[in-house]
Amino acid sequence: MKYETVIIGGGASALMLAAQLPKGRAALIEHNPKPGAKILISGGGKCNITNEKMGSAFFLAEEAFVRYALEAFDQDDLIAWLKKRGLEVEIRKGSQYFCKHSAKDIVNLLSKEASKQKLILSEEVLDVEKRGAYFTIRTDRRSYSVKEVVVASGGLSFPRLGASDIGYRIAEAFGHTVTRTAPALVGLTLQKEQFFFKELAGASTDVVITVGEHKCEGSLLFAHKGISGPAVLDASLYWEKGTIEIDFMPGFALDRIKKSKKQLSTMLPLPKRITKAFLIQLGIKDSPCYQVDTETYRRLETLHRYRLAPAGTFGYSKAEVTKGGIATDEVDERSMMSKRVEGLYFTGEVLDVTGRLGGYNFQWAFSSAYCCAKDIKGER
Ligand SMILES: Cc1cc2nc3c(=O)[nH]c(=O)nc-3n(C[C@H](O)[C@H](O)[C@H](O)COP(=O)(O)OP(=O)(O)OC[C@H]3O[C@@H](n4cnc5c(N)ncnc54)[C@H](O)[C@@H]3O)c2cc1C
Repeated sequence: MKYETVIIGGGASALMLAAQLPKGRAALIEHNPKPGAKILISGGGKCNITNEKMGSAFFLAEEAFVRYALEAFDQDDLIAWLKKRGLEVEIRKGSQYFCKHSAKDIVNLLSKEASKQKLILSEEVLDVEKRGAYFTIRTDRRSYSVKEVVVASGGLSFPRLGASDIGYRIAEAFGHTVTRTAPALVGLTLQKEQFFFKELAGASTDVVITVGEHKCEGSLLFAHKGISGPAVLDASLYWEKGTIEIDFMPGFALDRIKKSKKQLSTMLPLPKRITKAFLIQLGIKDSPCYQVDTETYRRLETLHRYRLAPAGTFGYSKAEVTKGGIATDEVDERSMMSKRVEGLYFTGEVLDVTGRLGGYNFQWAFSSAYCCAKDIKGER
């Protein structure tokens, strides 16, 4: 059978695109035996689909590029589209949309909607060439000749779930620039000075992390390999190298406890285990707060702006996303079509667009797919 469009990948973006196109228009090629592998494990198994708070400010990307797609198919459009097809959602943490029951529900829904196209599973795309008006997509089984190719093959994170560099290789083969890629939304490893953190593995506390001009609030989890948890994952998006600053006692004024007869370790707003480790590190003897001298309080103040220089990240095997990717100034923001090659499209994470923690990466995968579908259908 002859298709007009081949979609490379079977993740969030590819499935949404397949769902939006007219029946039988496209073949979707995924090298996993099932589509949507990442969606299944996302959001702790419940998939953080999107966020009520949306906008280009939540992305590390060229502002004008992301804005168009986010407005063309925004979080309300997405949730309405999913609900109309029977998905039950719930809002958690104030503004984040999750599946009410399981991420399986959204994978099943998307797979069903996408099944009006040919879904080709367990087949790996090897390369793409263009001769005249037609692309040849070569896989490990055969070749396809089509008018349009959509590269929705994602980034490099979680190789065990099928991530590959095929999208970047295809883009480069067609003369596109691929900006430097790095793991993001990922834990950070530590230098020698913070090795005492490792003894705290398993403990967590609320913090505010400052990276350059960005502030990331939430929980910090001490892990065996370094630090993790939502605030750290979010901060990793902006961290390149150099120091980050952690406020371990956000909103807490030490003045409040200075007259107390209780022990410092009882009054500081951190879990006991963490407090004790910091007191040892700062060379502070646990004693009643009113007996503590000014110099000691000055040292405790440093917990509001604890500076550390991460050694690196936990890497692609643990990263939720890949930052960097196909340069967006070479792609049309309204259609996601290459400005260099007619009929070649890129959607989702393969582009140099990375969202913060909180459902932004799926929103991008879906919004960019929506714009691409509009263009392919000639509706733009
Ligand atoms: C553990 C984890 C949790 C996450 N949680 C969230 C969350 O809750 N909310 C959120 O917004 N984002 C989350 N993300 C990020 C989100 O999953 C991605 O940003 C999103 O899936 C990107 O969609 P995509 O379609 O562009 O790429 P992907 O979903 O990665 O899909 C790309 C597909 O292409 C396939 N592929 C690759 N190479 C080839 C090839 N050569 N031939 C054929 N097929 C190929 C892959 O197997 C994959 O199925 C999470 C990611 C991880 C890893």
